[in-house]
Amino acid sequence: MLRLLSTLVLLAGLALGVGLWVGAGRAEGPTVEIHQPTRFIGQIGQFEASVDTGNGELLALTAHLTQGELSIPLFSLATPEQATVNQESESRFRVTRALTREDYLELSQGPATVVVEATRAVLFGLRQATSTAQHDIVARFEPPRLSVVSSLHYVNLGGAEVIVYRVTPPDAESGVRVADLRFPGYPASAAGVEGADESLRVSTFALLHDQELNSPMRLYARDEAGNEAEIDFDHRVFPRRFRRSRIPLSDRFLSQVVPEIVERSEELRRVAMPPDAGLLEQYLAINGGLRQLNRDRLLGLAAETAETKLWSEPFRQLGNSQVESGFADYRTYVYDGRDVDQQVHLGFDLAATANVPIASANAGRVIFADYFGIYGNCVIVDHGLGLQSLYAHLSSLDVQVGDAVTAETVLGRSGTTGLAGGDHLHFAMLLHGRPVTPMEWWDPNWIEDRINRKLRAVN
Ligand SMILES: [Zn+2]
Repeated sequence: MLRLLSTLVLLAGLALGVGLWVGAGRAEGPTVEIHQPTRFIGQIGQFEASVDTGNGELLALTAHLTQGELSIPLFSLATPEQATVNQESESRFRVTRALTREDYLELSQGPATVVVEATRAVLFGLRQATSTAQHDIVARFEPPRLSVVSSLHYVNLGGAEVIVYRVTPPDAESGVRVADLRFPGYPASAAGVEGADESLRVSTFALLHDQELNSPMRLYARDEAGNEAEIDFDHRVFPRRFRRSRIPLSDRFLSQVVPEIVERSEELRRVAMPPDAGLLEQYLAINGGLRQLNRDRLLGLAAETAETKLWSEPFRQLGNSQVESGFADYRTYVYDGRDVDQQVHLGFDLAATANVPIASANAGRVIFADYFGIYGNCVIVDHGLGLQSLYAHLSSLDVQVGDAVTAETVLGRSGTTGLAGGDHLHFAMLLHGRPVTPMEWWDPNWIEDRINRKLRAVN
């Protein structure tokens, strides 16, 4: 009887052991996710995957790039130094490795697969469980191709210019690079060229007032696989002389403009200023630090531009207005006989009497209508494809963000809000958030010659 019982216990124990062993054998391997490459691999690439073991030690992890019979190792836990391995939690690891063509020289253009295999310990390390993840990609090594379509590219310092070109594959990101600034290109169909094929692109670019005259200007393209190309295009650059002026600062002026801006500009707290700053110190913080913050914000608003050209007629200057101050006027500010500051004035000041209706310079959509630091009450109209116009120092605003406007729409009334000594309209043209001279956009001959002629020529 006792013997039978002990045999039964032994058998039960054996069954349990076998059950656990078999169960452990059916246990799932680690969870594997392949994050990169997503769709393509090119002259450069990135491998990124994460592994979660749930519980149990990670015993092995390998990654390969396969193509037919070919298998190229990308990573192995045995030699982890080629990659960065981050432990994200107790059971989760992320492996990242930058790749270049050198790492997969044998790979040909076309479909390929990323394969990641991971193994973890189960049943106190007595057994193992393995899982595999696969991700299909395409190897693309040819750089994008660029060719110039338009001719006669003339660029004035502080001014803009348009180029028409082709890029393949058409999904490559492309445009004009001027020194370190990039001006993206858009499909020619978005610029109003009817029947244009996908590869035809238009970029409006600029040589900013403070860039070198001999700044390199080239067409660039970069495809999704990270392959890059750049080509030269014929262009001529013309210098421009900017005016220099001296602006006297009176206590009356300071007490007129400073308190309003300080009260209404939350962001001024981010500008270093002693707590007991007097009017002049506050003014200098506004004219320097706040001006810079406002310019940074313009770069952010540029991203909200429409993907199509919203205008067709030349831009309109405020009716019968007298130009008080030109574009890129280098101003020295004088207080009490001392030079206290220097700034560049990046718009046009147009004389106006108080509360004159200010119409939009062209058709577009309002992307900003609010108090805006040195600009006071300000409206920004987007004209599409990176082009925007700005209206500052208004006494009242008649439009809201999102409003569609035409060249007749009244945006608000002239005034003296922000950094303004008297009633005037400060008008600026912005290309991807950076100021360019409005003179060109007001000139029907320039619009015809620099833009319309080139767009017509491609048909
Ligand atoms: Zn101004």
